[in-house]
Amino acid sequence: MSAGSGSAPNGDPSAELRPQSNGPTPAPTPISAPYWSGGAVGELRYQWCGGCELALMDPQPACTRCLTQDLEWRVSAGVGAVASYTIVWRPPLPRFEVPYAPAIVRVDEGFDLLTNIVGCTVGEVEVGMRVSVRFVDRGDDVWLPYFAPA
Ligand SMILES: [Zn+2]
Repeated sequence: MSAGSGSAPNGDPSAELRPQSNGPTPAPTPISAPYWSGGAVGELRYQWCGGCELALMDPQPACTRCLTQDLEWRVSAGVGAVASYTIVWRPPLPRFEVPYAPAIVRVDEGFDLLTNIVGCTVGEVEVGMRVSVRFVDRGDDVWLPYFAPA
């Protein structure tokens, strides 16, 4: 297994978690563009169905519960708690820097977001940890919502 310069020994709990510098960039669609561009103004946006009072993630053309197409964009406070996570030590592609921590964050407005935890060490991540959003500009009006300890 190859180890890039600066990569931490496998399993090192003191390894720092940082945003990917060369990870993939999403391609926004007309439906998802407001979500990806929200970071430009510091907004974690999500869709809200007023018909059945459901917060939606990820962006949809219609409510996944009641099927109305009358969805509105709302702005989250960008704060939540880690519901689940894993630490990746073996990169699925050579361009991925390890370790990194894919996580499901339960955002306070009532939706789950698949993201990555940054701004702390591997050993500091735990289920229930309070986190807040940290946007990373990927260009072309795409901002990735990472989360770091609040
Ligand atoms: Zn609905």
